Amino acid sequence: MTVKTRFAPSPTGMLHIGGARTALFSWLYARHFGGEFVLRIEDTDKERSTDEATQVILDGMKWLGLDWDGEPVFQGARQDKHIAAVNKLLDEGKAYKCYCSKEKLDNIREKQRIEGKKAMYDGTCRNLTEEQDSPFVVRFKSPEDGETWVKDLVLGDVCFPNEEIDDLIIMRTDGTPTYNLAVVVDDADMGITHVVRGSDHLNNTPRQIQLYHALGLDVPKFAHIPLIHGADGAKMSKRHGSVAITEYREKGYLPHAVNNYLARLGWSHGDDEVFSQAQLIEYFDLAHVGASPSRFDQDKLDWLNTHWIKASKPADLVDEVAYFMQDIDTSHGPALVDVIPALQERSKNLIELAGAARMFYVAPTEYQEKAVKKNFKEGTWALLDKFIAKAESEAWSGEAAHQWIADICEAEGVNMGKLAQPIRVLIAGVPVSPPIDITLELLGKDETLSRIQKGITALKS
Ligand code: GLU
Repeated sequence: MTVKTRFAPSPTGMLHIGGARTALFSWLYARHFGGEFVLRIEDTDKERSTDEATQVILDGMKWLGLDWDGEPVFQGARQDKHIAAVNKLLDEGKAYKCYCSKEKLDNIREKQRIEGKKAMYDGTCRNLTEEQDSPFVVRFKSPEDGETWVKDLVLGDVCFPNEEIDDLIIMRTDGTPTYNLAVVVDDADMGITHVVRGSDHLNNTPRQIQLYHALGLDVPKFAHIPLIHGADGAKMSKRHGSVAITEYREKGYLPHAVNNYLARLGWSHGDDEVFSQAQLIEYFDLAHVGASPSRFDQDKLDWLNTHWIKASKPADLVDEVAYFMQDIDTSHGPALVDVIPALQERSKNLIELAGAARMFYVAPTEYQEKAVKKNFKEGTWALLDKFIAKAESEAWSGEAAHQWIADICEAEGVNMGKLAQPIRVLIAGVPVSPPIDITLELLGKDETLSRIQKGITALKS
């Protein structure tokens, strides 16, 4: 059997960290087995679904590298199949039309509340023989006794007594099928073998299993992933970092760092914390997904982000760094892939890295006052003149420039910082840059000299 999983988000809210983790686990499971992973946008709630939320889902998944097989499927476009399934159940006497008004249902609920019973439909219309000429919903005839077992790959075997499951509405008064019906029809139709989703859906699963049986469909395997809580143990909210997944990009996170972090949030592989994407695919299994909620840990995410910024191949960082430099023209400087190695070690996140990379593409227009005061003294101008003379007369390289600075300073009996720091201020506006040889190599002779000259003029005036 080829494993086929899916991610089935409703575009009614943003794709958050929890949804992204569900998508990741589902994706990893399929990729581990060399199976298929599909994306189904459950846009049946037309009122609450938005194009913006759909876009965040697509962008977020692409950013995380969770590629889906085939085109995304939009559930709304499959309504005919859902309606056909409802009609089949009606024809076979496995579903019925329910004419109970909202008032009537409210009364039933109120009575149950007073009697201390669980609120559920009381089956008033279950055995009606006559059709009525009034609005109706369609309800599924749930078995009245026995049990429905969910044999969950994460939570274990969970038993639901059928008497606690009331007759589910499978089609609304306006003729639109509901979630539980649509999801069963779609998962079966798409050949999903493993339904991996959040444990908030566990209570829907016995209903769905009953629908699979009634429709004569094969029941897939289920894996319900416990939810993510905030560091304080409360349900994850915006305050805990549960923002749209695309915001993690804005904040300077590397997609693989987010994946690595999310994978460990609920799943374990011994005591290991750091996994490459290939290792995640190789090791991932549902047996090692814990059955209790996990706590979101911002520090660990940050730590992994810094780790992966250092550990990634420069070429794998280029797109993410370039994302923060779209406002500047990088075509006239060194290749970003050559700049990145100079900054990886010293950057906590991608915003810092991109910020530090800007100096290679944009000449300073101002010079930090504090740095100028500290680094420009009487003798500085003469040192700079000597450096310029060397650069103009000898073959340029970062290494050579470094040596000139050392030689000039030695001859003057001062330390290297007396010349290296003023050069930094003139080329970057601030006294910080990667090592001077690397910086000057990347910047090149013409740009270095032009910035130094321009800076001297500016500071002297
Ligand atoms: N569309 C549902 C949701 O976003 C998920 C359905 C499922 O995974 O079965 O919560």
